[in-house]
Amino acid sequence: MEVDGEARPFLVFSKPKSNRRAEPQAQVQAQPKPARPDPAPAPAAETDSSSGSDSDSEPTPTENGEPCQADAAAPASFADLGLSEWLVDVCSSLGMRRPTDVQRRCIPRALAGENVLGIAETGSGKTAAFALPILHRLGEDPFGVAALVVTPTRELAAQLAEQFRALGSPLGLRCLAAIGGFDSLAQAKGLSRRPHVVVATPGRIATLINNDPDLAKVFARTKFLVLDEADRVIDSNFEEDLKVIFDCLPKKRQTFLFSATMSENLRSLLELSGDNSYFFEAYEGFKTVETLKQKYIHIPPDGKELHLMYLLSKMKEDNIRSAIVFVSTCRTCQYLDFLLEELGRSAVSLHSHKAQSRRLSALHRFKSGQVPVLIATDVASRGLDIQTVDLVINYDIPRFPRDYIHRVGRTARATRGGLSISFVTQRDICLLHEVEDDVGKRFDAYECDDKEVTKDITKVFKARRLANMRMADEGHEDKVQDRKDQKKRDQARKRKHEE
Ligand code: AMP
Repeated sequence: MEVDGEARPFLVFSKPKSNRRAEPQAQVQAQPKPARPDPAPAPAAETDSSSGSDSDSEPTPTENGEPCQADAAAPASFADLGLSEWLVDVCSSLGMRRPTDVQRRCIPRALAGENVLGIAETGSGKTAAFALPILHRLGEDPFGVAALVVTPTRELAAQLAEQFRALGSPLGLRCLAAIGGFDSLAQAKGLSRRPHVVVATPGRIATLINNDPDLAKVFARTKFLVLDEADRVIDSNFEEDLKVIFDCLPKKRQTFLFSATMSENLRSLLELSGDNSYFFEAYEGFKTVETLKQKYIHIPPDGKELHLMYLLSKMKEDNIRSAIVFVSTCRTCQYLDFLLEELGRSAVSLHSHKAQSRRLSALHRFKSGQVPVLIATDVASRGLDIQTVDLVINYDIPRFPRDYIHRVGRTARATRGGLSISFVTQRDICLLHEVEDDVGKRFDAYECDDKEVTKDITKVFKARRLANMRMADEGHEDKVQDRKDQKKRDQARKRKHEE
Protein backbone atom coordinates (compact mmCIF):
# COMPACT_ATOMS: atom_id res chain seq x y z
CA MET A 1 0.00 0.00 0.00
CA GLU A 2 2.77 2.43 -0.79
CA VAL A 3 2.11 5.71 -2.55
CA ASP A 4 4.50 4.80 -5.32
CA GLY A 5 4.03 1.58 -7.25
CA GLU A 6 0.60 0.83 -5.82
CA ALA A 7 -0.22 -2.02 -8.10
CA ARG A 8 2.62 -4.34 -7.22
CA PRO A 9 1.61 -5.50 -3.73
CA PHE A 10 -1.91 -6.40 -4.81
CA LEU A 11 -0.69 -8.51 -7.67
CA VAL A 12 1.66 -10.67 -5.66
CA PHE A 13 -1.08 -12.01 -3.40
CA SER A 14 -2.05 -15.60 -3.76
CA LYS A 15 -5.59 -16.78 -3.13
CA PRO A 16 -6.43 -17.86 0.40
CA LYS A 17 -6.17 -21.61 0.79
CA SER A 18 -8.82 -22.12 3.39
CA ASN A 19 -11.80 -20.33 4.79
CA ARG A 20 -10.70 -20.67 8.40
CA ARG A 21 -8.56 -18.34 10.43
CA ALA A 22 -4.86 -18.76 9.92
CA GLU A 23 -4.03 -18.76 13.62
CA PRO A 24 -5.94 -19.01 16.90
CA GLN A 25 -6.87 -15.63 18.34
CA ALA A 26 -5.92 -15.14 21.94
CA GLN A 27 -8.03 -12.03 22.44
CA VAL A 28 -11.45 -13.63 22.45
CA GLN A 29 -12.47 -14.98 25.81
CA ALA A 30 -13.44 -18.63 25.60
CA GLN A 31 -17.01 -18.96 26.78
CA PRO A 32 -18.76 -22.15 27.75
CA LYS A 33 -21.16 -23.24 25.06
CA PRO A 34 -24.76 -23.50 26.20
CA ALA A 35 -26.37 -26.89 26.03
CA ARG A 36 -27.39 -27.45 22.42
CA PRO A 37 -28.50 -30.37 20.35
CA ASP A 38 -25.51 -32.29 19.00
CA PRO A 39 -24.43 -31.34 15.53
CA ALA A 40 -25.26 -33.70 12.75
CA PRO A 41 -22.23 -35.09 10.94
CA ALA A 42 -20.69 -33.23 7.98
CA PRO A 43 -22.76 -30.07 7.83
CA ALA A 44 -22.56 -29.52 4.11
CA ALA A 45 -24.09 -26.35 2.76
CA GLU A 46 -27.76 -26.34 2.03
CA THR A 47 -28.72 -28.31 -1.04
CA ASP A 48 -28.03 -25.84 -3.83
CA SER A 49 -25.02 -24.10 -2.44
CA SER A 50 -22.92 -27.21 -2.08
CA SER A 51 -21.78 -26.89 -5.66
CA GLY A 52 -21.25 -23.19 -5.11
CA SER A 53 -22.65 -22.53 -8.54
CA ASP A 54 -25.91 -20.97 -7.39
CA SER A 55 -24.49 -19.02 -4.50
CA ASP A 56 -23.85 -15.28 -4.53
CA SER A 57 -21.30 -15.31 -1.69
CA GLU A 58 -17.53 -15.30 -1.76
CA PRO A 59 -15.69 -17.17 1.01
CA THR A 60 -12.40 -15.99 2.48
CA PRO A 61 -10.45 -16.27 5.74
CA THR A 62 -11.05 -13.97 8.68
CA GLU A 63 -9.59 -12.96 12.02
CA ASN A 64 -11.05 -12.32 15.37
CA GLY A 65 -10.52 -10.12 18.42
CA GLU A 66 -11.46 -7.44 20.91
CA PRO A 67 -12.22 -3.80 20.22
CA CYS A 68 -9.52 -1.25 20.85
CA GLN A 69 -10.21 1.90 22.88
CA ALA A 70 -11.24 5.13 21.18
CA ASP A 71 -8.61 7.86 21.20
CA ALA A 72 -9.78 10.42 23.73
CA ALA A 73 -7.53 13.12 22.25
CA ALA A 74 -9.05 12.79 18.76
CA PRO A 75 -10.83 15.92 17.40
CA ALA A 76 -14.54 16.05 18.22
CA SER A 77 -16.19 17.96 15.36
CA PHE A 78 -15.99 17.86 11.56
CA ALA A 79 -14.43 21.35 11.60
CA ASP A 80 -11.70 20.06 13.96
CA LEU A 81 -10.83 17.38 11.43
CA GLY A 82 -9.59 20.03 8.98
CA LEU A 83 -12.45 19.75 6.47
CA SER A 84 -13.56 22.81 4.49
CA GLU A 85 -16.42 24.82 5.88
CA TRP A 86 -18.74 23.90 3.00
CA LEU A 87 -18.27 20.21 3.86
CA VAL A 88 -18.95 20.83 7.54
CA ASP A 89 -22.19 22.55 6.46
CA VAL A 90 -23.15 19.66 4.14
CA CYS A 91 -22.55 17.13 6.92
CA SER A 92 -24.70 19.15 9.26
CA SER A 93 -27.50 19.45 6.68
CA LEU A 94 -27.44 15.65 6.27
CA GLY A 95 -27.78 15.12 10.03
CA MET A 96 -24.09 14.28 10.56
CA ARG A 97 -23.22 16.64 13.41
CA ARG A 98 -20.27 14.85 14.98
CA PRO A 99 -17.80 12.52 13.30
CA THR A 100 -17.95 8.85 14.16
CA ASP A 101 -14.88 7.08 15.48
CA VAL A 102 -13.72 5.83 12.09
CA GLN A 103 -14.19 9.32 10.63
CA ARG A 104 -12.30 11.02 13.49
CA ARG A 105 -9.42 8.63 13.10
CA CYS A 106 -9.15 8.38 9.33
CA ILE A 107 -10.12 11.79 7.87
CA PRO A 108 -7.15 13.80 9.25
CA ARG A 109 -4.72 11.15 7.99
CA ALA A 110 -6.36 11.11 4.57
CA LEU A 111 -6.19 14.93 4.43
CA ALA A 112 -2.49 14.70 5.35
CA GLY A 113 -1.92 12.69 2.16
CA GLU A 114 -1.58 9.24 3.72
CA ASN A 115 -2.94 5.96 2.47
CA VAL A 116 -5.58 4.65 4.84
CA LEU A 117 -6.76 1.16 5.70
CA GLY A 118 -9.87 1.49 7.86
CA ILE A 119 -11.58 -1.47 9.49
CA ALA A 120 -14.70 -0.55 11.43
CA GLU A 121 -18.02 -2.13 12.21
CA THR A 122 -20.97 -2.14 9.83
CA GLY A 123 -22.98 1.09 9.72
CA SER A 124 -20.25 3.14 11.41
CA GLY A 125 -19.87 5.81 8.72
CA LYS A 126 -17.01 4.43 6.63
CA THR A 127 -18.35 5.92 3.39
CA ALA A 128 -18.01 9.49 4.67
CA ALA A 129 -14.59 8.60 6.10
CA PHE A 130 -13.23 8.23 2.57
CA ALA A 131 -15.67 10.46 0.64
CA LEU A 132 -15.17 13.64 2.70
CA PRO A 133 -11.37 13.93 2.21
CA ILE A 134 -11.81 13.31 -1.53
CA LEU A 135 -14.49 16.02 -1.75
CA HIS A 136 -12.34 18.38 0.32
CA ARG A 137 -9.52 18.08 -2.26
CA LEU A 138 -11.97 18.36 -5.14
CA GLY A 139 -13.27 21.61 -3.63
CA GLU A 140 -9.73 23.01 -3.79
CA ASP A 141 -9.00 21.74 -7.30
CA PRO A 142 -12.02 20.37 -9.16
CA PHE A 143 -11.03 18.12 -12.07
CA GLY A 144 -12.00 14.77 -13.51
CA VAL A 145 -11.36 11.97 -12.88
CA ALA A 146 -10.02 12.76 -9.40
CA ALA A 147 -11.19 9.56 -7.70
CA LEU A 148 -11.99 6.00 -8.67
CA VAL A 149 -14.03 4.04 -6.13
CA VAL A 150 -14.21 0.28 -6.66
CA THR A 151 -16.77 -1.84 -4.84
CA PRO A 152 -17.85 -5.46 -5.30
CA THR A 153 -21.58 -5.25 -6.06
CA ARG A 154 -23.69 -3.19 -8.44
CA GLU A 155 -26.22 -2.14 -5.80
CA LEU A 156 -23.47 -0.92 -3.53
CA ALA A 157 -21.86 1.04 -6.37
CA ALA A 158 -25.20 2.72 -7.10
CA GLN A 159 -25.60 3.59 -3.40
CA LEU A 160 -22.07 5.00 -3.13
CA ALA A 161 -22.60 7.15 -6.22
CA GLU A 162 -25.77 8.55 -4.62
CA GLN A 163 -23.90 9.31 -1.38
CA PHE A 164 -21.09 11.08 -3.27
CA ARG A 165 -23.65 13.18 -5.16
CA ALA A 166 -25.43 14.14 -1.93
CA LEU A 167 -22.24 15.09 -0.10
CA GLY A 168 -20.78 16.83 -3.17
CA SER A 169 -23.91 18.71 -4.24
CA PRO A 170 -22.55 22.22 -3.37
CA LEU A 171 -19.67 21.49 -5.76
CA GLY A 172 -22.01 20.40 -8.56
CA LEU A 173 -20.18 17.09 -8.32
CA ARG A 174 -20.31 14.90 -11.42
CA CYS A 175 -20.24 11.25 -10.39
CA LEU A 176 -20.55 8.32 -12.78
CA ALA A 177 -21.61 4.81 -11.73
CA ALA A 178 -19.93 2.30 -14.07
CA ILE A 179 -21.70 -0.95 -13.25
CA GLY A 180 -22.65 -4.13 -15.04
CA GLY A 181 -26.16 -4.75 -16.32
CA PHE A 182 -26.54 -1.29 -17.90
CA ASP A 183 -25.62 0.17 -21.29
CA SER A 184 -21.82 0.10 -21.49
CA LEU A 185 -21.71 2.51 -24.45
CA ALA A 186 -23.48 5.19 -22.42
CA GLN A 187 -21.05 4.56 -19.57
CA ALA A 188 -18.04 4.81 -21.91
CA LYS A 189 -19.40 8.14 -23.17
CA GLY A 190 -19.94 9.31 -19.59
CA LEU A 191 -16.38 8.34 -18.71
CA SER A 192 -14.93 10.22 -21.66
CA ARG A 193 -16.60 13.37 -20.27
CA ARG A 194 -14.32 13.00 -17.23
CA PRO A 195 -16.65 13.07 -14.23
CA HIS A 196 -15.08 14.11 -10.94
CA VAL A 197 -15.67 10.72 -9.34
CA VAL A 198 -16.19 7.27 -10.88
CA VAL A 199 -17.77 4.54 -8.75
CA ALA A 200 -17.43 1.15 -10.39
CA THR A 201 -17.64 -2.59 -10.04
CA PRO A 202 -14.29 -4.17 -11.00
CA GLY A 203 -15.55 -6.16 -13.99
CA ARG A 204 -17.36 -3.30 -15.72
CA ILE A 205 -14.62 -0.71 -15.37
CA ALA A 206 -12.01 -3.21 -16.63
CA THR A 207 -14.23 -4.05 -19.62
CA LEU A 208 -14.73 -0.37 -20.48
CA ILE A 209 -10.96 0.22 -20.42
CA ASN A 210 -10.17 -2.97 -22.36
CA ASN A 211 -12.75 -2.12 -25.04
CA ASP A 212 -11.39 1.38 -25.53
CA PRO A 213 -7.78 1.84 -24.36
CA ASP A 214 -8.19 5.62 -24.88
CA LEU A 215 -10.49 5.62 -21.85
CA ALA A 216 -7.52 4.67 -19.66
CA LYS A 217 -6.27 8.24 -20.22
CA VAL A 218 -9.13 9.72 -18.19
CA PHE A 219 -7.42 8.27 -15.11
CA ALA A 220 -4.01 9.80 -15.92
CA ARG A 221 -4.31 12.39 -13.10
CA THR A 222 -6.44 10.40 -10.67
CA LYS A 223 -5.43 11.19 -7.11
CA PHE A 224 -7.50 8.70 -5.14
CA LEU A 225 -8.25 5.01 -5.44
CA VAL A 226 -10.80 3.61 -2.98
CA LEU A 227 -11.45 -0.09 -2.53
CA ASP A 228 -14.69 -0.26 -0.56
CA GLU A 229 -15.42 -3.66 1.03
CA ALA A 230 -11.71 -4.08 0.33
CA ASP A 231 -11.36 -7.62 1.70
CA ARG A 232 -14.00 -8.84 -0.73
CA VAL A 233 -12.54 -6.91 -3.68
CA ILE A 234 -9.04 -8.22 -3.02
CA ASP A 235 -9.97 -11.79 -2.13
CA SER A 236 -12.57 -12.45 -4.81
CA ASN A 237 -12.02 -13.35 -8.42
CA PHE A 238 -11.24 -9.78 -9.43
CA GLU A 239 -7.47 -10.14 -9.91
CA GLU A 240 -7.50 -9.69 -13.67
CA ASP A 241 -9.82 -6.69 -13.42
CA LEU A 242 -7.69 -5.10 -10.70
CA LYS A 243 -4.58 -5.47 -12.89
CA VAL A 244 -6.31 -3.50 -15.65
CA ILE A 245 -7.40 -0.83 -13.16
CA PHE A 246 -3.98 -0.43 -11.52
CA ASP A 247 -2.24 -0.25 -14.90
CA CYS A 248 -4.10 2.88 -15.89
CA LEU A 249 -3.81 4.74 -12.55
CA PRO A 250 -0.84 7.00 -11.76
CA LYS A 251 1.66 5.56 -9.30
CA LYS A 252 1.57 8.71 -7.24
CA ARG A 253 -1.85 8.66 -5.61
CA GLN A 254 -3.56 7.92 -2.31
CA THR A 255 -5.22 4.58 -1.68
CA PHE A 256 -8.08 4.11 0.79
CA LEU A 257 -9.13 0.59 1.77
CA PHE A 258 -12.25 0.18 3.91
CA SER A 259 -14.24 -2.77 5.24
CA ALA A 260 -15.94 -4.21 8.30
CA THR A 261 -13.91 -7.38 8.12
CA MET A 262 -10.24 -8.11 7.77
CA SER A 263 -8.75 -10.87 5.67
CA GLU A 264 -5.32 -12.45 5.39
CA ASN A 265 -4.70 -10.65 2.11
CA LEU A 266 -5.59 -7.27 3.57
CA ARG A 267 -3.30 -7.99 6.50
CA SER A 268 -0.47 -8.94 4.14
CA LEU A 269 -1.10 -5.76 2.23
CA LEU A 270 -0.74 -3.79 5.44
CA GLU A 271 2.51 -5.55 6.26
CA LEU A 272 3.84 -4.68 2.82
CA SER A 273 2.86 -1.05 3.13
CA GLY A 274 5.45 1.69 3.63
CA ASP A 275 5.59 4.36 6.34
CA ASN A 276 3.14 6.51 4.48
CA SER A 277 0.12 4.40 5.42
CA TYR A 278 -2.31 4.75 8.26
CA PHE A 279 -4.11 1.74 9.67
CA PHE A 280 -7.20 2.16 11.79
CA GLU A 281 -8.82 -0.93 13.22
CA ALA A 282 -11.78 -0.36 15.52
CA TYR A 283 -11.32 -3.96 16.63
CA GLU A 284 -9.17 -6.76 15.47
CA GLY A 285 -10.96 -8.34 12.59
CA PHE A 286 -14.45 -9.37 13.51
CA LYS A 287 -17.27 -7.73 15.36
CA THR A 288 -21.00 -7.18 15.41
CA VAL A 289 -22.40 -3.97 16.90
CA GLU A 290 -23.47 -3.79 20.55
CA THR A 291 -26.95 -2.53 19.68
CA LEU A 292 -27.73 -5.72 17.73
CA LYS A 293 -29.65 -8.52 19.46
CA GLN A 294 -28.61 -11.87 17.99
CA LYS A 295 -30.86 -14.91 18.32
CA TYR A 296 -31.34 -18.30 16.75
CA ILE A 297 -34.23 -20.70 16.25
CA HIS A 298 -33.60 -24.41 16.18
CA ILE A 299 -35.68 -25.50 13.22
CA PRO A 300 -37.02 -29.04 12.78
CA PRO A 301 -36.71 -30.65 9.34
CA ASP A 302 -39.26 -29.13 6.97
CA GLY A 303 -39.95 -26.22 9.28
CA LYS A 304 -38.17 -23.28 7.67
CA GLU A 305 -41.08 -21.91 5.65
CA LEU A 306 -43.46 -22.17 8.62
CA HIS A 307 -41.07 -20.29 10.89
CA LEU A 308 -40.46 -17.64 8.24
CA MET A 309 -44.19 -17.01 7.85
CA TYR A 310 -44.57 -16.89 11.63
CA LEU A 311 -41.84 -14.24 12.02
CA LEU A 312 -43.15 -12.14 9.13
CA SER A 313 -46.69 -12.30 10.52
CA LYS A 314 -45.39 -10.80 13.80
CA MET A 315 -43.63 -7.84 12.22
CA LYS A 316 -46.36 -5.31 12.95
CA GLU A 317 -46.89 -6.48 16.51
CA ASP A 318 -43.11 -6.35 17.14
CA ASN A 319 -42.77 -2.87 15.57
CA ILE A 320 -40.52 -4.15 12.81
CA ARG A 321 -40.63 -1.75 9.90
CA SER A 322 -38.79 -3.87 7.39
CA ALA A 323 -36.87 -7.14 7.24
CA ILE A 324 -34.23 -8.77 5.06
CA VAL A 325 -34.30 -12.55 4.67
CA PHE A 326 -30.90 -13.92 3.63
CA VAL A 327 -30.60 -17.23 1.79
CA SER A 328 -27.61 -19.09 0.35
CA THR A 329 -28.70 -19.60 -3.21
CA CYS A 330 -30.42 -17.83 -6.07
CA ARG A 331 -32.80 -20.77 -6.31
CA THR A 332 -34.01 -20.48 -2.71
CA CYS A 333 -34.30 -16.73 -3.16
CA GLN A 334 -36.60 -17.01 -6.16
CA TYR A 335 -38.52 -19.89 -4.54
CA LEU A 336 -39.26 -17.84 -1.40
CA ASP A 337 -40.30 -14.92 -3.58
CA PHE A 338 -42.93 -17.19 -5.21
CA LEU A 339 -43.88 -18.76 -1.88
CA LEU A 340 -44.59 -15.41 -0.22
CA GLU A 341 -46.54 -14.29 -3.27
CA GLU A 342 -48.68 -17.46 -3.07
CA LEU A 343 -49.32 -16.68 0.59
CA GLY A 344 -50.28 -13.08 -0.15
CA ARG A 345 -47.30 -11.51 1.63
CA SER A 346 -45.68 -8.50 0.03
CA ALA A 347 -41.98 -9.09 -0.71
CA VAL A 348 -39.30 -8.54 -3.35
CA SER A 349 -36.21 -10.58 -4.12
CA LEU A 350 -32.64 -9.73 -5.08
CA HIS A 351 -30.24 -12.26 -6.59
CA SER A 352 -27.87 -12.52 -9.49
CA HIS A 353 -30.15 -14.59 -11.76
CA LYS A 354 -32.30 -11.47 -12.14
CA ALA A 355 -31.77 -8.79 -14.78
CA GLN A 356 -30.06 -5.73 -13.32
CA SER A 357 -33.01 -3.42 -13.96
CA ARG A 358 -35.24 -5.80 -11.95
CA ARG A 359 -32.62 -6.00 -9.19
CA LEU A 360 -32.50 -2.23 -8.81
CA SER A 361 -36.25 -1.89 -9.05
CA ALA A 362 -36.71 -4.51 -6.29
CA LEU A 363 -34.21 -2.69 -4.10
CA HIS A 364 -35.86 0.65 -4.78
CA ARG A 365 -39.29 -0.70 -3.78
CA PHE A 366 -37.83 -2.07 -0.56
CA LYS A 367 -35.79 1.04 0.26
CA SER A 368 -38.72 3.37 -0.35
CA GLY A 369 -40.92 1.36 2.03
CA GLN A 370 -43.40 0.16 -0.62
CA VAL A 371 -42.53 -3.44 0.29
CA PRO A 372 -41.52 -4.45 3.84
CA VAL A 373 -39.61 -7.66 3.06
CA LEU A 374 -36.52 -8.24 0.93
CA ILE A 375 -35.37 -11.79 0.23
CA ALA A 376 -31.74 -11.75 -0.85
CA THR A 377 -28.59 -13.73 -1.46
CA ASP A 378 -25.24 -12.37 -0.33
CA VAL A 379 -25.30 -9.81 -3.17
CA ALA A 380 -27.16 -7.71 -0.61
CA SER A 381 -25.03 -8.63 2.40
CA ARG A 382 -22.51 -5.81 2.18
CA GLY A 383 -22.73 -2.10 2.60
CA LEU A 384 -26.40 -1.48 1.82
CA ASP A 385 -27.59 1.29 4.11
CA ILE A 386 -31.35 1.11 4.69
CA GLN A 387 -32.36 2.71 7.95
CA THR A 388 -35.76 1.02 8.33
CA VAL A 389 -34.32 -2.50 8.48
CA ASP A 390 -35.09 -3.68 12.02
CA LEU A 391 -34.78 -7.41 11.41
CA VAL A 392 -32.38 -9.69 9.53
CA ILE A 393 -33.37 -13.33 9.18
CA ASN A 394 -30.73 -15.86 8.20
CA TYR A 395 -33.08 -18.36 6.55
CA ASP A 396 -29.90 -20.25 5.67
CA ILE A 397 -27.08 -19.66 8.10
CA PRO A 398 -24.09 -18.51 6.05
CA ARG A 399 -21.25 -20.96 5.52
CA PHE A 400 -18.63 -18.36 6.40
CA PRO A 401 -18.75 -16.21 9.56
CA ARG A 402 -17.55 -13.18 7.63
CA ASP A 403 -20.75 -13.25 5.56
CA TYR A 404 -22.73 -13.41 8.81
CA ILE A 405 -21.11 -10.17 10.05
CA HIS A 406 -22.01 -8.33 6.87
CA ARG A 407 -25.54 -9.73 6.68
CA VAL A 408 -26.55 -8.81 10.22
CA GLY A 409 -24.88 -5.44 9.68
CA ARG A 410 -27.83 -4.48 7.45
CA THR A 411 -29.67 -3.69 10.68
CA ALA A 412 -28.65 -1.82 13.86
CA ARG A 413 -26.88 0.82 11.77
CA ALA A 414 -25.48 4.11 13.05
CA THR A 415 -26.00 3.17 16.73
CA ARG A 416 -29.66 2.18 16.26
CA GLY A 417 -31.07 -1.11 17.57
CA GLY A 418 -31.80 -4.21 15.52
CA LEU A 419 -32.50 -7.93 15.72
CA SER A 420 -31.03 -10.88 13.84
CA ILE A 421 -32.56 -14.35 13.91
CA SER A 422 -30.70 -17.30 12.40
CA PHE A 423 -32.48 -20.50 11.43
CA VAL A 424 -30.43 -23.47 12.59
CA THR A 425 -31.24 -26.98 11.48
CA GLN A 426 -29.60 -30.03 12.98
CA ARG A 427 -26.87 -29.99 10.35
CA ASP A 428 -26.17 -26.24 10.76
CA ILE A 429 -25.19 -26.37 14.43
CA CYS A 430 -21.46 -26.45 13.69
CA LEU A 431 -21.88 -23.37 11.51
CA LEU A 432 -23.71 -21.56 14.32
CA HIS A 433 -20.90 -22.40 16.74
CA GLU A 434 -18.32 -21.13 14.25
CA VAL A 435 -20.16 -17.83 13.93
CA GLU A 436 -20.49 -17.52 17.72
CA ASP A 437 -16.79 -18.26 18.14
CA ASP A 438 -15.88 -15.63 15.61
CA VAL A 439 -18.07 -12.85 16.97
CA GLY A 440 -17.10 -13.85 20.54
CA LYS A 441 -20.68 -14.21 21.79
CA ARG A 442 -23.26 -16.87 22.49
CA PHE A 443 -26.68 -16.21 20.98
CA ASP A 444 -29.95 -16.79 22.82
CA ALA A 445 -32.77 -18.94 21.49
CA TYR A 446 -35.70 -16.97 20.06
CA GLU A 447 -38.90 -18.07 21.78
CA CYS A 448 -41.58 -19.17 19.30
CA ASP A 449 -45.19 -19.97 20.01
CA ASP A 450 -45.35 -23.44 18.39
CA LYS A 451 -49.12 -23.33 18.04
CA GLU A 452 -48.87 -20.08 16.10
CA VAL A 453 -46.01 -21.43 13.97
CA THR A 454 -48.02 -24.40 12.75
CA LYS A 455 -51.40 -22.69 12.58
CA ASP A 456 -51.28 -22.23 8.77
CA ILE A 457 -49.47 -25.46 8.00
CA THR A 458 -51.90 -26.62 5.29
CA LYS A 459 -51.81 -23.26 3.51
CA VAL A 460 -48.02 -23.06 3.69
CA PHE A 461 -47.45 -26.60 2.41
CA LYS A 462 -49.84 -25.99 -0.48
CA ALA A 463 -48.04 -22.75 -1.34
CA ARG A 464 -44.77 -24.65 -1.21
CA ARG A 465 -45.98 -27.06 -3.89
CA LEU A 466 -47.21 -24.22 -6.08
CA ALA A 467 -44.00 -22.24 -5.68
CA ASN A 468 -41.94 -25.27 -6.68
CA MET A 469 -44.14 -25.78 -9.74
CA ARG A 470 -43.62 -22.15 -10.74
CA MET A 471 -39.87 -22.58 -10.39
CA ALA A 472 -39.97 -25.26 -13.08
CA ASP A 473 -42.69 -23.66 -15.25
CA GLU A 474 -41.05 -20.25 -15.42
CA GLY A 475 -37.60 -21.64 -16.30
CA HIS A 476 -35.84 -20.95 -13.00
CA GLU A 477 -34.72 -24.56 -12.53
CA ASP A 478 -33.15 -24.40 -16.02
CA LYS A 479 -31.35 -21.18 -15.10
CA VAL A 480 -29.95 -22.81 -11.97
CA GLN A 481 -28.76 -25.82 -13.99
CA ASP A 482 -27.24 -23.57 -16.71
CA ARG A 483 -25.27 -21.67 -14.06
CA LYS A 484 -23.98 -24.92 -12.55
CA ASP A 485 -22.91 -26.18 -15.99
CA GLN A 486 -21.22 -22.87 -16.78
CA LYS A 487 -19.37 -22.92 -13.48
CA LYS A 488 -18.13 -26.47 -14.14
CA ARG A 489 -16.91 -25.42 -17.62
CA ASP A 490 -15.12 -22.38 -16.15
CA GLN A 491 -13.44 -24.50 -13.50
CA ALA A 492 -12.30 -27.07 -16.08
CA ARG A 493 -10.93 -24.29 -18.30
CA LYS A 494 -9.10 -22.74 -15.34
CA ARG A 495 -7.59 -26.10 -14.33
CA LYS A 496 -6.42 -26.69 -17.91
CA HIS A 497 -4.93 -23.20 -18.04
CA GLU A 498 -3.06 -23.76 -14.76
CA GLU A 499 -1.65 -27.08 -16.04
P1 AMP B 1 -21.97 3.83 6.33
O1 AMP B 1 -21.30 2.94 7.35
O2 AMP B 1 -21.01 4.72 5.64
O3 AMP B 1 -22.84 3.04 5.39
O4 AMP B 1 -22.96 4.80 7.14
C1 AMP B 1 -24.04 4.30 7.89
C2 AMP B 1 -25.07 5.37 8.16
O5 AMP B 1 -24.55 6.31 9.10
C3 AMP B 1 -25.47 6.18 6.93
O6 AMP B 1 -26.86 6.30 6.91
C4 AMP B 1 -24.82 7.52 7.13
O7 AMP B 1 -25.57 8.56 6.55
C5 AMP B 1 -24.80 7.64 8.64
N1 AMP B 1 -23.67 8.46 9.12
C6 AMP B 1 -22.42 8.48 8.65
N2 AMP B 1 -21.65 9.33 9.37
C7 AMP B 1 -22.44 9.86 10.32
C8 AMP B 1 -22.24 10.80 11.37
N3 AMP B 1 -21.05 11.36 11.57
N4 AMP B 1 -23.29 11.12 12.16
C9 AMP B 1 -24.50 10.55 11.96
N5 AMP B 1 -24.77 9.65 10.99
C10 AMP B 1 -23.75 9.29 10.17
